[in-house]
Amino acid sequence: MVTLVSTQSETLLDAQLAAIRMRIQTAETQFGRRPGSVALLAVSKQQPITRLLAAYTAGQRAFGESYVNEALTKQAVLREQLIDWHFIGRIQTNKTRLIANHFNWVHSVSDFTHAQRLSQQRPPDLPPLHICIQVNISAEETKNGLAPAALADFIKIVRELPRLSIEGLMTLPAQTDDFSIQRRTFADLRTLRDQLAKPELPLTTLSMGTSDDLEAAIAEGATIVRVGTALFGARAGDHF
Ligand SMILES: *Cc1c(COP(=O)(O)O)cnc(C)c1O
Repeated sequence: MVTLVSTQSETLLDAQLAAIRMRIQTAETQFGRRPGSVALLAVSKQQPITRLLAAYTAGQRAFGESYVNEALTKQAVLREQLIDWHFIGRIQTNKTRLIANHFNWVHSVSDFTHAQRLSQQRPPDLPPLHICIQVNISAEETKNGLAPAALADFIKIVRELPRLSIEGLMTLPAQTDDFSIQRRTFADLRTLRDQLAKPELPLTTLSMGTSDDLEAAIAEGATIVRVGTALFGARAGDHF
């Protein structure tokens, strides 16, 4: 039997969740964004289930996970909770079926074979899988994501996949403390989106901004910020 909640972790999480919501609200106001236009995705990878449940109890519904097996373990325990599960990690070809079956959103699509498999493997009784295309906006060797120059052609072919719904773009830029560099990078993703969006494909979602740079992302149009450590504290070592 798993003991799910300790009162202490619940109280702490209440306060941390309130603090993140306040940061989001303050940034919305400061940068002229419509109140409530930025959604919080709670990035719960490598966090214990008790913390997810505490955040859920405090009203959080959208959770982001990066490792499929870890996420499935959590989903099995939290099956009674009405959680909106987002996959934000590196996609492995042999995991696409599980992702297509167990998540509502995938933020990290940047490979056509993966997109094709996700579409083919999306169960017919579920709505189309919401996806964001991950863009390697700061052109780092080690980061996942599509080069900006490849984006238009990629969207053209992924749009044809019947069981995927392209919602917008995602990026995880190189870490920097310089606010103006953070903003410039996020502005690049917004500009790309503005160039590619059309009435029949509005690309309304910009999934950008994490614990350290969510203000800059909101300033530049983020509609989903993905926050892990600032909400849940440090992650467990390497694996779950
Ligand atoms: C881990 C992760 C995050 C959260 O980062 P924090 O610095 O913990 O807020 C956001 N996005 C992606 C893609 C991640 O892998």
